[in-house]
Amino acid sequence: MRKKRIALYDAQRGACAICDGEMVDPRTEPQGMNNISFASCTRDHVIPKVRVTEENKHDNSKGVCRGCNNARGSMDFEEFLRVRKFFLKRGWQPCTKAPKDVRRVISAMVLKKRLERRSCLM
Ligand SMILES: [Zn+2]
Repeated sequence: MRKKRIALYDAQRGACAICDGEMVDPRTEPQGMNNISFASCTRDHVIPKVRVTEENKHDNSKGVCRGCNNARGSMDFEEFLRVRKFFLKRGWQPCTKAPKDVRRVISAMVLKKRLERRSCLM
């Protein structure tokens, strides 16, 4: 798991695949749950597990800071990328925890999408 994160970190030269901020090198990161930083490099799945196929499974991982990964939740990667870029210009600093109002906006968007999907089925 850590090996994979190191590989992603190196491939992206330490930059978060979403906010482009500077992540913490997994090799030098303090171990243990007490030291988890929002700049730590996490492995994120670009394509939701349900849509993973033999062809796309290899490039499904990206190194993403914990700040982005936590905030994204179940939102589509591409959609979250756009949302993150928007808030990057409006004060949500790279590799930090999403401010409360941003998290509220994101969960509203996820909920809206879920409701839209549901109404399509009716
Ligand atoms: Zn990030």
